[in-house]
Amino acid sequence: MTRPLVFATRNRGKLVELRDLLTGIEVIDVDDAARRIGHAIAEVVEDADTFEGNAIKKAREVSRATGLPALADDSGLEVDALGGAPGVHSARYAGDTEANNHELASSLNNTKLLAALDGITDRTARFRAVLALADVTGPLGDDVITAAGVCEGSILTAPRGTGGFGYDPLFLVAGTDQTMAELERTAKGAISHRGQAMRLIEPRLRAYLR
Ligand code: IMP
Repeated sequence: MTRPLVFATRNRGKLVELRDLLTGIEVIDVDDAARRIGHAIAEVVEDADTFEGNAIKKAREVSRATGLPALADDSGLEVDALGGAPGVHSARYAGDTEANNHELASSLNNTKLLAALDGITDRTARFRAVLALADVTGPLGDDVITAAGVCEGSILTAPRGTGGFGYDPLFLVAGTDQTMAELERTAKGAISHRGQAMRLIEPRLRAYLR
C-alpha cells in the first residue's frame, strides 16, 4: 500500500498553494491524517528562531504523530526597515489569540504592519519559505530533506487585490506593478517563495516517495 504525504499545516492558504504546486502525489492534510489514525494531532509549537528550524520541527512532529511522511512549510515576511520583522513571527505578528482564525489574524497583522511602517519610505521586504520533508518512522529516519525560496518586493501603503492570503495584498512584487494578491494562483506559484522552494524540493520528494 502506498503511503500518502501529509501536508503539516492547518493554514488553508498554504494548503491550496502546496496542492497546486505538487500534483500527482496522494496528499492529505492534518485533519485527514487525524481521522485516519483515529486521534487528534497536537498543534506544533513553533518556537525555533529560524524558518528552517520551525519547518523541520513541524514536519518531524506531524510525521511522528501520523507514522507518515510529512511536508511542512514555514514562511514569513521580512521587512528591512523593521530589522527583518515580523520574520518567524509573521503568523502571530498582531498577537496570539486569533492565530487560528487565519483571515482575522491576517487582517490584524496587515493593520499592524501598515502602522509600523507609517511615515517610512524605505519599504523593501521579502517573503521567505522553507519546506521540510520528514519521515521519522520510514527510510529517512532522523534525516530531513529541505529547500528554501525567497521573493523580493516592497510594502504598499494600502492593500490591493483579493487573491492569496496573509500579507499578499500589501506585498508589491519586485520588478512588477502587481501585488501578490493581484496575481492568479499559478502566476503566484511561478514567482513565489513557496513555488521556488517547491521546485527545488520536488525532484527529491518524488524520488523519495516512489
Ligand atoms: P507559519 O505558519 O508560521 O509558517 O506562518 C506563515 C505566515 O507568514 C502566514 O500566516 C502569513 O502571515 C505569512 N506568509 C507566509 N507565506 C505567505 C504568502 O505567500 N503570502 C502572504 N503571507 C504569507
